[in-house]
Amino acid sequence: MKRNHSPWLYQLRQDRESTKLTKDIETDVVIVGAGIAGVSTAFFVLKHTDKRVVLVDRFKLAHGATGHNAGQITSYFERGFASIAEEFGLPMAAEGQQGVEDAWGLLDEMYTEAGLNIPVSRFVGHAGLSTVEQVNFHLKNNHMRKRAGLNIETIRIAEDAPFAPEISGQYAGLYTFVPHKEILDLLETESTEYIASLSYQKGCANSALLCQEVVGFLMTKYAERFSFYEHTPIEKVILKPTGALIDAGDHEMMAGHVVLCTNGFAGVTIINEGGLGINAKFHHLVHGTVGYMSGYLETMNKPPIAVSYFPQLSTMIEYDEESGDPYYYLTRRQYEYEGTRDVNLISIGGPELRLEDASVYGSDAEYPDDIINTIDTFVKKTYDTDPNKKIDYVFTWHGLMGYTRNGIRLIGCEPANPVLMYNLGCNGVGILPSIYGAKRVAQLLAGEVLGPSIFDIPQV
Ligand SMILES: Cc1cc2nc3c(=O)[nH]c(=O)nc-3n(C[C@H](O)[C@H](O)[C@H](O)COP(=O)(O)OP(=O)(O)OC[C@H]3O[C@@H](n4cnc5c(N)ncnc54)[C@H](O)[C@@H]3O)c2cc1C
Repeated sequence: MKRNHSPWLYQLRQDRESTKLTKDIETDVVIVGAGIAGVSTAFFVLKHTDKRVVLVDRFKLAHGATGHNAGQITSYFERGFASIAEEFGLPMAAEGQQGVEDAWGLLDEMYTEAGLNIPVSRFVGHAGLSTVEQVNFHLKNNHMRKRAGLNIETIRIAEDAPFAPEISGQYAGLYTFVPHKEILDLLETESTEYIASLSYQKGCANSALLCQEVVGFLMTKYAERFSFYEHTPIEKVILKPTGALIDAGDHEMMAGHVVLCTNGFAGVTIINEGGLGINAKFHHLVHGTVGYMSGYLETMNKPPIAVSYFPQLSTMIEYDEESGDPYYYLTRRQYEYEGTRDVNLISIGGPELRLEDASVYGSDAEYPDDIINTIDTFVKKTYDTDPNKKIDYVFTWHGLMGYTRNGIRLIGCEPANPVLMYNLGCNGVGILPSIYGAKRVAQLLAGEVLGPSIFDIPQV
């Protein structure tokens, strides 16, 4: 059995001191959860308002999903754009999708203003498709993206794909036929089951390292208005008409607003004094899925890539509660390991375990052998096919993802009491949506009136 050993946490400063809340305090905004959502929310609230901000985490900075993800920067939802448009209408779906894509600019803003120099790569990433259903699913999404005025994804279909003659005429102009080999080359595989590819802007970063560096910047730049406490679990929030009393165990905080950036598994009791009850049992709103990943190192002789592979048996072509076999996502990036910068890290994820009760997840749970084997079988079949090579998975890690009922992040004010706000629910892909949500929360706190969005909190 291997342990939960993440390449992202490995790169964090081990000598950084953490501070616990040791007194009662009063502030303007308390942000609960110091992953990418909480850290970027702190960044934009401090930047766009003059409010005092306290960021707290029950454990350590970026040690939740942010420290256990695949680190791909990508703007897709694990739910097709066409189905989001069906639920919310095309204009609102387009605005939401565009907002997440524009979060690339917000990431650049954070990076530049904080004066960071950590590696962040940006390139065109690819997905390999193997069935006509997967291809039609993405053609339909592309069709709706075009109608909505969004950039379309590049879809290539092998000219010898058996279903090629049957592609619907309405999708003309949304794909090109190419030699099969061109697709396999893009996907860096010889596995001929992949007969189409989908390409779009992607990137990669260590989002935990990003959090560490941004928090360091905020502590210096906003020393008068920003505090950060770790090992400070929030157990209860009592909402009043104009503020909240926050129970942090031995101490309490009074704040004008509380923003939950807890990925959904808050374990926080919320009492709305004098108002409607709030269903704060987030596992009723958000279910948990454990994602497993393995990573190995090799000489840095190839550029960064991000490729998702949807094998024939994979049913997960979109957000699907009952998803069957996994799809796999592989990233290759430059990685600094034991003081050397000339290695590539190949990280692969895919296998997942759905939890009925997310509170049973333990980040220190061992990494099951059968998952190592599942990932290794995939790698040997698809990417690193030398039968004589024994791959040493230096890193094996797992993390908890919060899925909302409709697969879309929750961003904004609690309808029953706007003192409480949310930027949570990773839904598989959470880095850019968290950053987008951070800016939106900051705008709301700055007093801007924003129109309805796909991220609004439903009444329950
Ligand atoms: C295996 C895996 C692969 C992924 N791959 C990608 C990817 O490639 N690209 C992508 O965009 N996204 C990916 N994600 C999702 C992405 O990592 C998350 O969406 C994102 O990191 C979530 O950030 P967050 O800040 O919302 O949550 P987290 O990082 O989980 O942070 C929440 C924080 O809240 C704290 N907290 C919770 N409850 C309390 C409380 N009561 N009191 C105080 N603190 C509390 C936790 O300790 C935690 O630090 C992946 C996730 C996993 C697990």
